[in-house]
Amino acid sequence: MMSPPDFTSPTIFKTFNSIPSTLDNNAPSESYYLLAEIKENLSLTRPTLICSDLSSTSFALTWSDLNASPHASDVDFKGSGLKKGNCILLPNAKRTDSSDDVKQGKVVISGGRDEWEAQSGLRVIPGKLEKVVEVGQDWEFVVVEGEKKCGNCGKEGEELARCTGCRGVGYCSKECQVKGWTEGGHKSVCKIIKSFREIWP
Ligand SMILES: [Zn+2]
Ligand SMILES: [Zn+2]
Repeated sequence: MMSPPDFTSPTIFKTFNSIPSTLDNNAPSESYYLLAEIKENLSLTRPTLICSDLSSTSFALTWSDLNASPHASDVDFKGSGLKKGNCILLPNAKRTDSSDDVKQGKVVISGGRDEWEAQSGLRVIPGKLEKVVEVGQDWEFVVVEGEKKCGNCGKEGEELARCTGCRGVGYCSKECQVKGWTEGGHKSVCKIIKSFREIWP
């Protein structure tokens, strides 16, 4: 199993202000991600999500070929998981600076909705930014170690039953699974672990 990239690295997980602008000619040689939490859906004339990055800087995420009007309600952000409280992960994103000081900077995804995944590589991680970072930083401990140890009591064994949600954590007994879900807080990270396994298989 692959591990996610190093969540403590600011050159891999960049902020809105540290990604290159569309006017920059020197693109970074290494690939990187823009990771941010969706705070608000401000779609009026154009689908627009207000996001907050790792430094709590907010920016707008919008699409070049996608107009909400006149069918704003047809834009199924929720169905794609693009909703408040979830995170977006956008590889090699570029910033479009605004000449107008009042306006917020933005990231424009080219193409319409059907092309999101194919063209931009935009992924949704179902969870808050704080939890997503926590999972990324604890991956070795929780998931890699979790291959061998019960996710609740730490008992080692070959016969660990995998969590059916994420398949990333194992438990020695039903009791441990229940405790791990509630008291252990697995409930808040299970979907995040699942999406990490899909993004970095
Ligand atoms: Zn156990
Ligand atoms: Zn799980």
